[in-house]
Amino acid sequence: ESSDRSEKQVSGAEIIAQALKTQDVAYMFGIVGIPVTEIAVAAQKLGITYVGMRNEQAACYAASAIGYLTGRPGVCLVVSGPGLIHTLGGMANANMNCWPLIVIGGSSERRQEMMGAFQEFPQVEACRLYSKFSARPSSIECIPSIIEKAVRSSIYGRPGPCYVDIPADFVNFQVNVNSVKYVECCMPPPVSMAETSAVYMAASVIRNARQPLLIIGKGAAYAHAEEALRKLVEQCKLPFLPTPMGKGVIPDNHPNCVAAARSRALQFADVIVLFGARLNWILHFGLPPRYQPDVKFIQVDICAEELGNNVKPAVILLGDINAITKQLLEQFDKTPWQYPPESSWWQTLREKMKINKAASKELASQKSLPMNYYTVFYHVQEQLPRDCFVVSEGANTMDIGRTVIQNYLPRHRLDAGTFGTMGVGLGFAIAAAIVAKDRNPGQRVICVEGDSAFGFSGMEVETICRYNLPIILLVVNNNGIYQGFDADSWKEMLKFGDSTAVAPPFCLLPNSHYEQVMTAFGGKGYFVQTPEELQKSLKQSLADTTKPSLINIMIEPQSARKTQDFHWLTRSNI
Ligand code: ADP
Ligand code: MG
Repeated sequence: ESSDRSEKQVSGAEIIAQALKTQDVAYMFGIVGIPVTEIAVAAQKLGITYVGMRNEQAACYAASAIGYLTGRPGVCLVVSGPGLIHTLGGMANANMNCWPLIVIGGSSERRQEMMGAFQEFPQVEACRLYSKFSARPSSIECIPSIIEKAVRSSIYGRPGPCYVDIPADFVNFQVNVNSVKYVECCMPPPVSMAETSAVYMAASVIRNARQPLLIIGKGAAYAHAEEALRKLVEQCKLPFLPTPMGKGVIPDNHPNCVAAARSRALQFADVIVLFGARLNWILHFGLPPRYQPDVKFIQVDICAEELGNNVKPAVILLGDINAITKQLLEQFDKTPWQYPPESSWWQTLREKMKINKAASKELASQKSLPMNYYTVFYHVQEQLPRDCFVVSEGANTMDIGRTVIQNYLPRHRLDAGTFGTMGVGLGFAIAAAIVAKDRNPGQRVICVEGDSAFGFSGMEVETICRYNLPIILLVVNNNGIYQGFDADSWKEMLKFGDSTAVAPPFCLLPNSHYEQVMTAFGGKGYFVQTPEELQKSLKQSLADTTKPSLINIMIEPQSARKTQDFHWLTRSNI
């Protein structure tokens, strides 16, 4: 028996697949080619779900969303050189979002290194800027330990991407099975709690607040802190504001959610507790004029280096959000306290919410055609199942959509995120649909795209159709980037014979039939111009659980947001 075992050979590809399986990695996205095809085949044989995409960037977006949704990194498998370079966008996005991810890149054969090999590129170096760990195993035998380290690094501490480089000559090389030792699955990320004295101080700062506010970020979503945070909000009767992807940790329709009075809440709060949200551009750096100059920040984060960025916090709570929220709850259990529901702060916030909600309702009720954003999103919101995943990207499409479309569940919103990346939508939707298929069959994915945003990864519609994922794509079409022109203005502008006429940079073709991208691959396509057509097509799309669909929604090309106190997305307007 022992001689039989010693003769058994195993390939580099099989070792990679087994090492990933041992680390509990369940999903792989990528594009195969020389030299990585065998890795995908070996992974499939072991029951790892492999999804073949059309561009490495989208594959990487999909793999990174798996990490956020499941807490276990997905793999992005790509070929050398250009394949890996296309992946960098996805790695950078995951890095900015603090999402775990494993990228496995094939690379040229070691004996041709520095000779101008096919697609040769310094990949380990290139990935270092976008990852927590970037390495090439020094031999086939040490692949398992490098993969264990990559998976562990991706989920311990602040999550992020890790890169493993696989030279072509490793892939099909056979070694004796007995020479390979698989490292046991790494332990779940350690849970750390904040210092007791800091927790005590935080509770006391909260108790003494005149105008308190909790901000719930995507770090809280990632930390699965939904139950504890909801308890804190309800027990202490505190107002909370979700960040874009913090939406749904506590349902958007919770009475303590002050999202509709966002600017007001930020501007006048005197104590703000940040649960997994950085004071970056999304939160206006925590600085005046968007905040009071003397606002007290209590920062809760797993990453010590984050604490104190842009502001000097009143209290820092270093550790896991779920654990720390429970520590805070203990304090409020010991000495019960609640923020007075009849305070003038609550009155101010409620008043502002009422005004803002009425203003968007008013816009939504406008009967003029083409439709405006608000009309579109109100009709969409009316029909969306409460448990659906909402994916969204675009400029106005994403910003306005976020204010109207509600999330009721944590980790069910995916969007352009910290890096403001366009092109993420289809990859994210595919990842969400794959997770839904495995964990909650029948759950739907709605992907709300601007027409420009859709273009970045539009060919992934073929991927959606190939895997028969019943995703509903909405393309909110204004013929351009931010704004566009209607067909008549377009014709007028590019009048035949006028050699000086040029299309403005923000324009896209008017009345493009994006729905035909879907019908080209066997899905359902709809071109809609009225609220009635929108309602009907969405109803049909939701009823059909077997097919993907794309609803191309024509809106007023010059439609914009309602007037804002601050243009919070204007990056230059700090
Ligand atoms: P948002 O975009 O929602 O404002 P950010 O991405 O800016 O959120 O911030 C998320 C923060 O959450 C990061 O600083 C990250 O370090 C932190 N984080 C991630 N996981 C945890 C966790 N388990 N416990 C505490 N903080 C976490
Ligand atoms: Mg547009």
